[in-house]
Amino acid sequence: MSYPTRRPRWENDDLSMFRDAVRRFFAAEIVPNDARWMQQHHVDRSFWNKAGEMGLLCPSIPEAYGGSGGSFAHEAVVSEELAYIGCSSFGQVVHGTIVAHYLLAYGNEGQKQRWLPKLCTGEMVGAIAMSEPAAGSDLQGIRTRAVRDGEHYVLNGSKIFITNGSQADLVIVVVKTDPDAGAKGVSLIVVETAKTPGFSRGRVLDKIGLKGQDTSELFFEDARVPAENLLGGEGYGFIQLMQQLPQERLAIAVGAQAQMEYAISLTLAHVKERKVFGRALMDMQNTRFKLAECETLSRVTRAFVDECVEKHLGGNLSASEASMAKCWATDQVCRVVDECLQLHGGYGYMNEYPIARLYADVRVGRIYGGANEVMKELIARAL
Ligand SMILES: Cc1cc2nc3c(=O)[nH]c(=O)nc-3n(C[C@H](O)[C@H](O)[C@H](O)COP(=O)(O)OP(=O)(O)OC[C@H]3O[C@@H](n4cnc5c(N)ncnc54)[C@H](O)[C@@H]3O)c2cc1C
Repeated sequence: MSYPTRRPRWENDDLSMFRDAVRRFFAAEIVPNDARWMQQHHVDRSFWNKAGEMGLLCPSIPEAYGGSGGSFAHEAVVSEELAYIGCSSFGQVVHGTIVAHYLLAYGNEGQKQRWLPKLCTGEMVGAIAMSEPAAGSDLQGIRTRAVRDGEHYVLNGSKIFITNGSQADLVIVVVKTDPDAGAKGVSLIVVETAKTPGFSRGRVLDKIGLKGQDTSELFFEDARVPAENLLGGEGYGFIQLMQQLPQERLAIAVGAQAQMEYAISLTLAHVKERKVFGRALMDMQNTRFKLAECETLSRVTRAFVDECVEKHLGGNLSASEASMAKCWATDQVCRVVDECLQLHGGYGYMNEYPIARLYADVRVGRIYGGANEVMKELIARAL
C-alpha cells in the first residue's frame, strides 16, 4: 500500500474524512482477500454487502433512494482508494458510478424506488450491457432485439465483455426496439436476471488483466421482460448513452490517474532499495530521469483530470473534455507503468509484484469506455 501525500484540489475536509474511512475499510476488507478474488475471478458477494453497509456502493445517489447523498467527488475517492491498494477486482464504478446513475436520470419514481435502494445495499449488483460480438465501438450496429408483446418485451441477442456479468442481478441492456430507425431505434431495458426466463450467462472471460473481475457474456433467448422495465421511453437509448458516457469516461480517467501515482510510488520504493553495480538503482541517472518524466506526466495529467472533475461537479464538463481526460490519462498510465515495470527488472515481469499486475490492468483503459481512437473522433468533432 502506498498513498500519495497531496490531496486533489477538489477534496474538502469532509471528503478527506470520507477517504480515511474508505482507506481503513479497504485495508481491512480488500487487502487480505484480493489475491483470492483474482483466483476465483470475482469479488465475494459478502464484500458487496459490507461495502453497501459502509455506503460505498452508491456514494453519489441521493439519500431518498438509499444512497449516501454525495457527489461525483465521493465516487472519485472510492476509485482512487482502490487504485492505491492495487485492487482492480471490484466493479463499483460500473455498479454505482454508471448503472445507478442511468436509473437515477431516466427511471420513473417507481423504478427508482424499486431498484436504487437494492443497488445501494448490494442486495442487487448492477451491470450495463452495450457491447456485442459484432458491435462495440459502433453501438448503432447492435443487433439485440426487443419486440413488444402485450405487457412484455421479448429480447433476443447476446452481449459480450460485460463487467459484473456473472454476479449481476440487474442489467441495463441496450436493445434495438426499431431496427430501421438507426440511433432512434435504440432503447434501454432493465433486466432483473432472477426474474427473466430466457436469460443466461456465458463463461467468465479469461483476460490478461483485471483478474478479479467477472467479465462475462450474456445471452437472451426469447427472454421476457415486463414492458414497465423500459428506461425513459422507446428510442431514447442512444441519447441516454451519449449523456451518461462522459461521467463513465471521467471515472476511467480518475482511476488511470490514481494508478499512475500508485505505479510511481511502487517504483520509488523498489529503486531506493535495489542495489545494482554497488549502488542504489535510484542513484543512476537513467532511473532519476525516467522517474522525473513519469512524475511530471502524472502531475500534468492530475491537473487536467482535477479540472475536469471540478467542471463535472459544477455541471459544466463537456463530452469532448471527458473524452480528452479519458484518452489522455489512459494513454499516459500505460507509458508510465511500462517505464516503471522496466525499472523493476525481472521482478517487474513476475505476477507476484504489483507492478506486473498493474501493467496488465491498465491496458484496457485505452479500449473500454470507448476506444481512444473513438475519443479522438469525438474531440475532433467539437473543434
Ligand atoms: C475488461 C473489459 C470490460 C468491459 N466492460 C464492458 C461493460 O461492462 N459493458 C459493455 O457494454 N462493454 C464492456 N466492454 C466492451 C468495451 O466497451 C469494448 O471492447 C470497446 O467499446 C471496443 O469495442 P470492440 O471491442 O468491439 O472493438 P471494435 O469496435 O472492434 O474496435 C477495435 C479497434 O478499432 C479501432 N477503432 C474503432 N472505432 C474506430 C474509429 N471510429 N476510428 C478509428 N479507429 C477505430 C480502435 O483501435 C479499437 O480498439 C468491456 C471490455 C473489456 C475489455
